[in-house]
Amino acid sequence: MERICVDKTASRGIAVAPVYLYLDPDLNADSGQILEEQIEDELKKFADAKAVVIRDLTKLSEKNEIFAAHLEIADDFMLQDGVENKVKNDLKNVQQAVAETIEEFAVIFDSMDDEYMKERAADVKDIGKRLMAEIKHVKLPDLSGIAEPVVVVARDMFPSDTVKIDPSLVKGIITEEGGVTSHVSIIAKSMGIPTLVGVKGILSKVTDGEIICMNAEDGVIIVKPDEASVEEYQRQKECYESEKARLESLRNTPAVTKEGKRIYLCANVGNLQDIRNALPVNIDGVGLFRSEFLYMQNTHFPTEEEQFKVYKEAAELSPQELTIRTLDIGGDKELSYYEFEKEENPFLGWRAIRISLDMKDMFKDQIRAILRASAFGHVRIMFPMIISAEELKEAKDIVEECKKELEEKGQAFDREIEVGMMIETPASVLLADEFAKEADFFSIGTNDLTQYILAVDRGNKKIAKKYDYFHPAVLKAIGQVIEAGHREGIKVGMCGEMAGDQKAVELLLDLGLDEFSMSAGSIDYVREQIINRK
Ligand code: PEP
Ligand code: MG
Repeated sequence: MERICVDKTASRGIAVAPVYLYLDPDLNADSGQILEEQIEDELKKFADAKAVVIRDLTKLSEKNEIFAAHLEIADDFMLQDGVENKVKNDLKNVQQAVAETIEEFAVIFDSMDDEYMKERAADVKDIGKRLMAEIKHVKLPDLSGIAEPVVVVARDMFPSDTVKIDPSLVKGIITEEGGVTSHVSIIAKSMGIPTLVGVKGILSKVTDGEIICMNAEDGVIIVKPDEASVEEYQRQKECYESEKARLESLRNTPAVTKEGKRIYLCANVGNLQDIRNALPVNIDGVGLFRSEFLYMQNTHFPTEEEQFKVYKEAAELSPQELTIRTLDIGGDKELSYYEFEKEENPFLGWRAIRISLDMKDMFKDQIRAILRASAFGHVRIMFPMIISAEELKEAKDIVEECKKELEEKGQAFDREIEVGMMIETPASVLLADEFAKEADFFSIGTNDLTQYILAVDRGNKKIAKKYDYFHPAVLKAIGQVIEAGHREGIKVGMCGEMAGDQKAVELLLDLGLDEFSMSAGSIDYVREQIINRK
């Protein structure tokens, strides 16, 4: 038994369940020539692996149409011929033959002009992984295949991994790397999964399938627990749940400060299910809809129509405002179907509004979809990462252009739709006075604002102690932004993780914050702080 203490909690809660080790196995091909008499054996290994892969993909494609294209590629004669040629003619072993054929195949798809065909390169690589795992007899981890309660232990997880998780079965997440405001932590929090990140050495201490206890309230993990510890953690879990029930009983009490100011409590969401999950908490609306997850869960840039359907339903679900943030891709958020050029500093690179303004047609699809959804509820548009008045003007001009197009087609939308911006760059803080004249609302994104003001990477565990939104420079910036917004009579909210931190509530109320937007799991705690503030 070993007790590990962790200094920061990414998402609260307590879990006791078997470990699910989520690690990419070594899928590199063993190099080596074969003898002519080995050809048949090598080709048989390929045929066996292919049969298993096709069987698995057939099952998957019955559940999810994404896999239909995978299936076609896996069964393509070019793949078969490519491997056969390399084994028969070049006397390469099957692992090398598969690796090289897949690489060649992926390059062909990648160089195609048609966007849809280009996207298939990622499918080809996925098939390569599946074939190689079969040939090497290693198990590929599959988060969407989890069938019983587990605690996932991983080196790190990407947003694309986290979106595959079923929160009713994944009882906890522990990662070796990552910081508390990395996107994985944010997604885990929105799903209500207890999560501890940056736990150095955890992978070498656990074994797949053995019980692990984690308390993401106090930051404690018990590896290889004895019976008494398992019982103790089960008991802690019950206490935690009864405290949760007490907080839930306050859900119908409005969040009004002792001075009589009504504070808006909103949810940060990434999809429709997050909104549904947040409704029982009694939210005032959605303060941040991270629209990029809609793009990340897709196999192509979602069309105007596809987006409209989602935003319309989101508008109908939201009790009051639905704040849709336009695409904030880049940084640590990638798309499986779009190759980003490698950058030295992705968080200072081509991300968020910079991409939208460069890919105007794609941006307009999104804006038209949001505008059309505004006919079905109180929808607001929010731009991420703005640094200059020119950018804000350009983005707002595109909204006007889209309004005109919809008008010409006779399509309904809210003509008075509010257009606001995130304050998450030092430039936007320094220019807050100017921006407040042009934007209908502000929402302070402390996750990025903290990393940019302090020059501290939000996901780097090594400097996690320095990543601190209570740093006086960050607090001063927040105060200035709220004052600048209020001078122009606009509402100032916060949608960074700080808004859901109980320790920050009093301070933020004193600074005059109007709206707190956070993961649904934090709302009960923040509401209690506001109501019971002395
Ligand atoms: C932020 O930066 O605070 C924010 C809410 O945006 P994201 O975490 O998605 O970058
Ligand atoms: Mg941000």
